[in-house]
Amino acid sequence: MQFVWDRPEVSLALSGMGSKQMIDENCASADASGINALSDDDRKVLKEIVGIYTKRIRVPCASCMYCMQCPSGVNIPQNFAILNNVSLQASAKQNSSQRFYTYLIKRGYKKMAGSKYELARNPGNGNALVCTKCGRCMERCPQARKITTELEKVHEVLGKGKRIDDVFTLLSTIDEK
Ligand code: SF4
Ligand code: SF4
Repeated sequence: MQFVWDRPEVSLALSGMGSKQMIDENCASADASGINALSDDDRKVLKEIVGIYTKRIRVPCASCMYCMQCPSGVNIPQNFAILNNVSLQASAKQNSSQRFYTYLIKRGYKKMAGSKYELARNPGNGNALVCTKCGRCMERCPQARKITTELEKVHEVLGKGKRIDDVFTLLSTIDEK
């Protein structure tokens, strides 16, 4: 929130709050905020974090859920979350327990519904295979994600076992401001 309020072009920040504690914390944070209030050290840390994430995250989905509900039952953010988790794991040197963790993450994709029959038992939790490419979700995504294309690529990796580096390029644009 401090980063958002630091930006001169931002006049209003909308934040989802689910409890009174969150409201109190956001109000306290707002009181301590201001345009250009971040220190040089804060900006340096933020830039480093952006660098780390752009090297590891393949689909920058914010899990905001604005694209949902999908009429075909695809759980869009969950498909991207699993893929990004696999990417995060793959970027680290793995011991046997981490390899097992990666296996469990990938298994999570296979446990999602991949057909109409499976959707009947697991409604709203479809994997990329059940996308009909209607395009409805893309009109709603504030991140302008090419969801149908990204879902196809997700299935190439998580459904067909292709190497993540052969299917997804790393994000390369870093905001230098
Ligand atoms: S394009 Fe695919 S994921 Fe998006 S709403 Fe249509 S069926 Fe669902
Ligand atoms: S609307 Fe876009 S950013 Fe939000 S959950 Fe859906 S794909 Fe992700």
